[in-house]
Amino acid sequence: MTKIRFKIDEPGHENHLCYLTNLRQHEDASESFLKLVREPKYFCKRCGRAAADKKNLCKPTKL
Ligand SMILES: [Zn+2]
Repeated sequence: MTKIRFKIDEPGHENHLCYLTNLRQHEDASESFLKLVREPKYFCKRCGRAAADKKNLCKPTKL
């Protein structure tokens, strides 16, 4: 039986807010996290999160 594993197949996925919130980064509300979500200009069509830079989203769309 094969286990389904979470696959990181997108370049830069470790910078995505979807991934960072999976790691509970948002619970610390650290400055490095806050600067990603401050003054958002894009939102993610996949998970609905907003970010200042589209590189931090998996499916960025301009706000
Ligand atoms: Zn996303």
